[in-house]
Amino acid sequence: MAARILIVEDNAANLELVRYLLAFSGYTVMQARDGVQGVEIAMKERPDLIICDLQMPLLDGYQVLARLRENPIGAKFAVVAVTAFSMPNDRQMVMTAGFDGYLSKPIEPEKFVEQIEAYLPARLRAPPRTTDL
Ligand code: MN
Repeated sequence: MAARILIVEDNAANLELVRYLLAFSGYTVMQARDGVQGVEIAMKERPDLIICDLQMPLLDGYQVLARLRENPIGAKFAVVAVTAFSMPNDRQMVMTAGFDGYLSKPIEPEKFVEQIEAYLPARLRAPPRTTDL
């Protein structure tokens, strides 16, 4: 069965792009527009994967991760950071914080789903689309 994926992202255009790409590929997508809502939905819905922006109001991505990790259930969630920061040590900071993965913006629509699927076990990947309409 295809994964249920939560997107936590305050930028409407990025949120819509990511939502569209994942939904088109067959994933069930949930969305949150800030960190507080992100933690709330994550704990309620227990998604298979969380894609989390770093720069957000209320709680940033690092704070969202910390809130999740302090809970025994949230500690097990797979959380991938998506960030516009492009400093060379970003990846290291993100991985040190305890994220499961890291993608940098801008999102590349043709590669994005494949990049995300690398963080999903095979059983949670959507079957490939067989027709291009
Ligand atoms: Mn942001």
